[in-house]
Amino acid sequence: MKMLLNGQWVDRDKKIDVIDPFDNSVIDTVPAGNDKDVELALSSAVQGFQITKRMTVYDRAQILYKAAGLISERLEEFATIIAREGSKTINEARKEASRCVNTITCSAEEAKRILGETIPWDSFPGGEKRKGFYYRFPIGVVLAITPFNDPLNLVAHKLGPAIAAGNSVILKPATVTPLSAIKLVEVLLEAGLPENAIQVITGYGSKIGDPLVSDERVRMISFTGGVEAGKHIASKAGIKKIGMELGSDSPVIVWKDADMQLAVESCVSGSFWAAGQNCIGVQRLLVHKEIYDEFKTKFVELTKTYKIGDKLKEDTMMGPMITENEAKRIEQWVNDAVAGGAKLLTGGKRDGAMYDPTVLENVPADAKVHYEEVFAPTVNLYQVDDLDKAIAQANALPYGLLAGIFTRDLETAFKAAYELDCGGVMINDSTDYRLDSMPFGGVKYSGLGREGLKFSLQEMTEPKVVCFNLPGI
Ligand code: NAD
Repeated sequence: MKMLLNGQWVDRDKKIDVIDPFDNSVIDTVPAGNDKDVELALSSAVQGFQITKRMTVYDRAQILYKAAGLISERLEEFATIIAREGSKTINEARKEASRCVNTITCSAEEAKRILGETIPWDSFPGGEKRKGFYYRFPIGVVLAITPFNDPLNLVAHKLGPAIAAGNSVILKPATVTPLSAIKLVEVLLEAGLPENAIQVITGYGSKIGDPLVSDERVRMISFTGGVEAGKHIASKAGIKKIGMELGSDSPVIVWKDADMQLAVESCVSGSFWAAGQNCIGVQRLLVHKEIYDEFKTKFVELTKTYKIGDKLKEDTMMGPMITENEAKRIEQWVNDAVAGGAKLLTGGKRDGAMYDPTVLENVPADAKVHYEEVFAPTVNLYQVDDLDKAIAQANALPYGLLAGIFTRDLETAFKAAYELDCGGVMINDSTDYRLDSMPFGGVKYSGLGREGLKFSLQEMTEPKVVCFNLPGI
């Protein structure tokens, strides 16, 4: 596939192979963008903004509705691309593609709700004769940088609201999974998005990242990815708005009064969805000691039923990690934890990029699987017996995206909801639950700002005050 610069699909001699991690076959190639491409993307996006900022809300919404319809018609095609270039099974990929339809449709709906307010100028002496309001205007060129693990829907979470707001966008998709993103852009153009409203530059973040991120023509960076890249981007960005959706080490408390079956099934799915490469994937299970043994037995039993393998087979439940190197990384982390005293309850085996669903207990506090984001199909069980201590344990690490608690008691649920430091608390769900229109984002190292279409639109627009001084009234 090619990249889109100044309204043209262009190729370069230097290319990057897009590889299916299951069998290492090369699915396609994309050009490796260079500094000149960065400049062309930036200058074209500035021109594009002159067009998009004058488009009516109706036109913006119609393009998005049409694009959502086209994705819906081609759902299987999108799902197959997601499954081939990434880690997801075909069933996980179908779910992502249908969520993308929802994300783009909801962006169209929210375009119609970009509202302002009148301002009570006379609420302070000196304002008596003034009348006015504020409205929200598009921020300008948005740089969207996206990760590999949801290669379609997380791109839609940036392009949908950016277009709805009247911005132009430069998209830098994940180096390893650019195809779903490019396909989405093709659909947006087919739906009528004007030339130069969008640029797609493919390539290595380490090479084209700095000149894009630091350029003053970019007015907002909307980044989803890891903390290290996030810190680097923040250090280079200069004065512009930054939205950051970063990693986590999601804790879920399973209290003694939990619905056991629900908790086990939700937490197993939440631990191993997309081979654990999921920003809200369950990493730390804090289980009440009275039900610990039963929960552990059932959790491990269900984990052992996981059928892993070919992503395109209907009955495969979990695919490979994104690269063999990533699988080697987690193999090492698990081995180190076991050497430090952790007990392996199941899993722990690697074959190429495939890493078995893995469950650990007695994980020492200095093990990376405890204190780093694992982003892999491995989960830790901990025993707890005091709610305050469990909440403190959940809050003890430097992330805070989503947290979960399984309980039937309202007071326990409310206490957890108010005291867990994070962007959202799921009660009787694992952390792996997200509605695309809810405010989504984290605290601490999990990020800055919120996505979720209405909330992204707030971030991607600026309020402008209009004040009339009317001495004659
Ligand atoms: P990553 O940080 O390696 O890469 C993300 C994107 O940033 C890619 O497009 C990459 O090419 C680009 N990039 C890397 N260095 C850059 C630089 N210096 N300048 C500009 N761009 C640069 O992340 P990944 O491995 O693709 O994704 C996994 C991470 O993403 C995990 O930490 C996960 O938790 C996080 N994530 C967060 C959310 C969320 O909504 N909070 C969602 C999905 C993934």
